[in-house]
Amino acid sequence: HPRHADAADPAAGAAVKAADRAHVFHSWSAQGLIDPLAVAGAEGAYFWDYDGNRYLDFTSGLVYTNIGYQHPTVVAAIQEQAGKMTTFAPAFAIESRSEAARLIAERTPGDLDKIFFTNGGAEAVENAVRMARLHTGRTKVLSAYRSYHGATSTAINLTGDPRRWASDNGSAGVVRFWAPFLYRSPFYAETEAEECARALQHLQDTLAYEGPSTIAAIILETIPGTAGIMTPPPGYLAGVREICDRYGIVFVLDEVMAGFGRTGKWFAADHFDVVPDLMTFAKGVNSGYVPLGGVAISAEIAATFDTRPYPGGLTYSGHPLACAAAIATIHVMEGEKVIENAARIGETVLGPGLRELAENHPSVGEVRGLGAFWALELVRNKETREPLVPYNATGADNAPMAAFGAAAKKNGLWPFINMNRTHAVPACNVTEAEAKEGLAALDAALSVADEHT
Ligand code: PMP
Repeated sequence: HPRHADAADPAAGAAVKAADRAHVFHSWSAQGLIDPLAVAGAEGAYFWDYDGNRYLDFTSGLVYTNIGYQHPTVVAAIQEQAGKMTTFAPAFAIESRSEAARLIAERTPGDLDKIFFTNGGAEAVENAVRMARLHTGRTKVLSAYRSYHGATSTAINLTGDPRRWASDNGSAGVVRFWAPFLYRSPFYAETEAEECARALQHLQDTLAYEGPSTIAAIILETIPGTAGIMTPPPGYLAGVREICDRYGIVFVLDEVMAGFGRTGKWFAADHFDVVPDLMTFAKGVNSGYVPLGGVAISAEIAATFDTRPYPGGLTYSGHPLACAAAIATIHVMEGEKVIENAARIGETVLGPGLRELAENHPSVGEVRGLGAFWALELVRNKETREPLVPYNATGADNAPMAAFGAAAKKNGLWPFINMNRTHAVPACNVTEAEAKEGLAALDAALSVADEHT
């Protein structure tokens, strides 16, 4: 398999890096304190730099290259579409857009049969909230702490994690609640059943004091991703569905990260037999080869806009190149059984392998996940569960996680790190050998984390 770096070219790398440092303003960063790696290429589950170092990508970019980098079928489909129709405005019916919408609608759960296309996840969330508000005539939206929904205005307000703090504009219309997370239970629960019951009671109590008739929507990531890959306890999402039905609240599931095969099913909602009213997606829909996201809309909410115009749109909504990439990606996922692969690797390699690491390393407090979607909670002390680094740590306070990250890279693994967690989120078509290579590198890097326990 030709997944190796071509001859190294440090001079070319230095030029790329110099132009980047001079002119690229990076996301989420203090511009003067970062040192971005210059990447020369990527293929499958790997990428490589200009110095001849190759990395197994256990981040899938930003958890989106579900079929890996440079899949030839999708690259060819984009090239072919570019030759036929590179772009066309969203008000027209065109083949790439209508076919992508059909394929997506046929795979989303229940009656989520209309697709509003966006360029990414945050725009999908913005539009889902707008639809919910217009559908209900209400304004408030409930979202969970320990969540990530995007970085545009409403999406960042809905986001629960600390990245919200600096850019939150007062969270207009957003009320936050605690979703279940047994390992650090907001409800001091000790079993999943207890966690589920108390989390649902807490949601009921929150609604009672907010006024259920003022709530347009409840939004949850089906399995919160960036905040820690916390699979909800059995019954929780069904309970939220019931609460939404009781009060006429729109139930929005954000599947931007968990959707399109990541969890070993098309959508994470498929694990729980729950159908939301609106479902947001992006990332895995075309493995991010061309920016694409969207909202899958129930028949009832779609009907709201049958005779009344929907007041929202985007110039590049359903862009032909992005839609062609989505069509090809869906065919690849089915033809190459990518989703089945994610489920199997999760069950037979990643799950058992990560649990074994947890047994051998004092720094691993918990392993949780499924499919190609796993989190390791790194701690100073397994008994007290004290996180390896303080909440939202930076600089010297974050040194243990930085040391862990550096050790992973030295061992050829590019790790996903968020606060005191590392996530194992490789491409969904990762092979058994690649997954084992990742586990071995994690094993070595965790020995460095162990020094801080
Ligand atoms: N929702 C979820 C669940 C996400 O994980 C993300 C991105 N990590 C977003 C929304 C925002 O997507 P984007 O960055 O494409 O705007």
